[in-house]
Amino acid sequence: MKTGIYPGSFDPITMGHLDIVKRSAKNFDRLIIGVLANNAKNPLFTTEERVAMILEVIRDYPNVTVESFSGLLIDFADKRGASFIIRGLRAVTDFDYELQIAQTNRKVNPNVDTLFLTTSVEYAYLSSSIVKEIARYGGDIREFVPEEIVDKVYEKCRIREDSSYGRK
Ligand code: ADP
Repeated sequence: MKTGIYPGSFDPITMGHLDIVKRSAKNFDRLIIGVLANNAKNPLFTTEERVAMILEVIRDYPNVTVESFSGLLIDFADKRGASFIIRGLRAVTDFDYELQIAQTNRKVNPNVDTLFLTTSVEYAYLSSSIVKEIARYGGDIREFVPEEIVDKVYEKCRIREDSSYGRK
């Protein structure tokens, strides 16, 4: 069974992420979306919320599952018997960091390789941060995140705006 892992923060999952999920799921028997729990990026959504949103979005993809993980990605991949880690590349700015991580991971465990998929042009500019920024100011995010989670993103961004989100 050929298993791939697509790791990330998914804070929240966007159409860009979903595009990578769809394209890679076709090429694996099983695709596991790995939601990073111990995240230095200080996510807006809790790990449970990020996993729950992804669960709603992947309902129609029978070979795609989601779980959170903490610790080293390469250990998680190894435990799940995954032969590939999948990452998306949007722009050249993603490249340096991704190259470094991929090479390090391969050094740690040569049995797990990294596959890069280039973004579809329509999502090249799209990131979770941009979605949160637009939602915070009441902009239209319906093109950017799967419809199942639109309300949740608005709700969360407004809650944070009402408290201390974005203020120093
Ligand atoms: P991380 O914090 O690990 O970068 P992200 O949730 O930001 O987590 O991204 C997860 C993966 O999805 C990364 O490989 C990232 O490059 C990719 N990705 C994010 N947005 C897009 C997009 N719009 N198109 C293609 N790939 C994307």
